[in-house]
Amino acid sequence: MGRVAVVTGGIRGIGAAIAQALDKAGYTVAANYHQDDATATRFRESTGIAVYKWDVSDFTACQSGVAKVSEDLGAIDVLVNNAGITRDAVLHKMSPEEWGAVLETNLTSCFNMCRCTIGPMRERAFGRIVNIGSINGQAGQYGQVNYAAAKSGIHGFTKALAQESAGKGITVNAIAPGYIDTDMVRAVPPNVLEKIIARIPVKRLGQAEEIARGVLFLAADDAGFITGSTLSINGGQHMY
Ligand code: NDP
Repeated sequence: MGRVAVVTGGIRGIGAAIAQALDKAGYTVAANYHQDDATATRFRESTGIAVYKWDVSDFTACQSGVAKVSEDLGAIDVLVNNAGITRDAVLHKMSPEEWGAVLETNLTSCFNMCRCTIGPMRERAFGRIVNIGSINGQAGQYGQVNYAAAKSGIHGFTKALAQESAGKGITVNAIAPGYIDTDMVRAVPPNVLEKIIARIPVKRLGQAEEIARGVLFLAADDAGFITGSTLSINGGQHMY
């Protein structure tokens, strides 16, 4: 196959499932991460997938990271912007730092990574970009004005970049996951999580592999007519 894919936040949770699904499908994969060296080492040893440490909210770090991956593995064909964080608080108690960190890590990171990879994709007239949004960017969520704004921004970013890139063989799509069983959701208090699950028509959390399945679909060579779309994978929790 020979396609090279980068997955940000690709060593645990949804990103790890995406990296492994792409690897299994024959892509050469680079899994980026930020801090968790121990998990990154375990992930590399157990999967054989190359891991690369940089902060996706830092433009200069993205430039060096992308250069290193391209040098090691070849030009990047597929970019999955998956890295994300939450810093939940109601607006009247939210600090500027909590606002800024979530916007920088979830949304500015998409600009940083797309800006650093799209030039060569345009030159080679091929690219697949998949941005991981969220049900909470579509529907809003109490205590998450920062996260909802960042994820909602991803959906607009996706449509605008899709228009700019369509003539160059590059598709840009988003996936909006519902509640998926990862560390991020395990951090939600159990009584709140119970209420969330009760509102999901399929009556369970999603699995990371169920998001990876959507990424594989959108990243495929023969998915060239799908661009600017958002695929909701949420157990029927939010339909529109
Ligand atoms: P996890 O918290 O399990 O993993 C997040 C990953 O992102 C980690 O690998 C982490 O690296 C990485 N990361 C965080 N900040 C940075 C940074 N600055 N630079 C590089 N990497 C970074 O998250 P999930 O798997 O749950 O979520 C993945 C994506 O899916 C996120 O964008 C999230 O918002 C979105 N999402 C998740 C949902 C869910 O229910 N879980 C629902 C909807 C959307 P490290 O390991 O080094 O910390």
